[in-house]
Amino acid sequence: MRQSAVPDNPRRRRLGWTGTEAIGRAWRRADPERSVGERPTVPFIKRRRLVMISHILSKSTFSRQDIIDLLSARDPAEVEAIRNAAYRVLVDNCGTKVYLRGLVEFSNRCACNCYYCGIRKGNVEVKRYTLTKDEIVGAARFCAEAGYGSMVLQSGERRDERFVSFVEDAVRAIKRETISNALPRGLGITLSVGEQTPDVYRRFFDAGAHRYLLRIETSSPRLFTSIHPSRQSFEARLACLASLKDAGFQVGTGVIIGLPGQTVEDLADDVLFFRAIDADMIGMGPYIVHKQTPMASHDEAMAARKKDTLEFALRMIAVTRLVCRDVNIASTTALQAMEPLGREMGLLYGANVVMPQVTPQRVRRDYQLYEGKPCLDENAQQCRACLCGRIRSLGREPASGEWGDPRHFDARQRHAAIQQ
Ligand code: SAH
Repeated sequence: MRQSAVPDNPRRRRLGWTGTEAIGRAWRRADPERSVGERPTVPFIKRRRLVMISHILSKSTFSRQDIIDLLSARDPAEVEAIRNAAYRVLVDNCGTKVYLRGLVEFSNRCACNCYYCGIRKGNVEVKRYTLTKDEIVGAARFCAEAGYGSMVLQSGERRDERFVSFVEDAVRAIKRETISNALPRGLGITLSVGEQTPDVYRRFFDAGAHRYLLRIETSSPRLFTSIHPSRQSFEARLACLASLKDAGFQVGTGVIIGLPGQTVEDLADDVLFFRAIDADMIGMGPYIVHKQTPMASHDEAMAARKKDTLEFALRMIAVTRLVCRDVNIASTTALQAMEPLGREMGLLYGANVVMPQVTPQRVRRDYQLYEGKPCLDENAQQCRACLCGRIRSLGREPASGEWGDPRHFDARQRHAAIQQ
């Protein structure tokens, strides 16, 4: 990732760059005999940087520069300090439970042409599918019986009435079919079906969905324009996030990390964006190239930066936890696609939600937003066993039969009630 604030000095770049001036001053203070031209030694710089990172972590609010400094940390001791602080904030504000949402990718038909996405309309190689309502309800029943408590319905983006009423009907059917003693309000339903009109969002909410995920993808209008065709606008997406809130949804958003041209400042602004729009849930993941997209030419550059991107993604989770505190943060499948233990790592950096696959196996291969999607050959039962085992191995408990709403949403509601 390009760090535009880094002066062009390879040695400093390798060590990180926080407070280079301040480190120089501390170096001379430590021994007044030192000349101005004499450079601090590597161990000295490392110690000072760790002191500075610890100082930032002791604050309760963070400036943009603080966030940039935390995201730029590379030294293992600094990263561990950040991870530890984020984990403490997680435990204090959300507890240690991991909430599970069964993920059903119910259709890959899409009217959009995002340059990064494998199921974009322009990719003629994709075999298109839409699950039947019965298949979706069957997957929902599995989630309820497996104790997942909530599910996510995700698809490509369509705005035609046929699609909208299909989603509405599916949500109503899931609610009807999953109410039980264990789940008196039925399964919690999160929708992730893209940009829609305010009226459609209200219809989805009235049908019984209560959470919605719509990633801003990047909070930089410049970057947003570079990864989407001109008919998809940053402003339209912002307006959708506002309408979702007006409709009563718990609103989730997020960004892609490691996009070509993205800087550490862009990522810091993403974290500030989450706070500014008062998001309830955050889902972020590394950018992974899909060869059948217009961004495939970045393949080699992206492969070379893979480790770097994964580490940035983990630090983004930690820093978002530090800044947004009581929100739900997902440890996304893209982390696992990039690194087999990526999802577990996300949980250790402050995430508290995981979305196990419940999409019927016969179509899983046709919903590839990026390459290397994991769990293509496991069935939903196997995914459950594997995931719960992995969560317990971290000393965390998978929640059972709970909706697992973010505490942030309750706080937001209480605040709104006081304002009225
Ligand atoms: N149509 C829905 C769901 C989109 S897919 C919507 O528009 O919200 C869910 C997310 O996958 C996207 O928001 C995007 O952030 C992510 N995604 C798509 N292609 C990706 C890629 N190549 N690498 C990483 N993430 C990707």
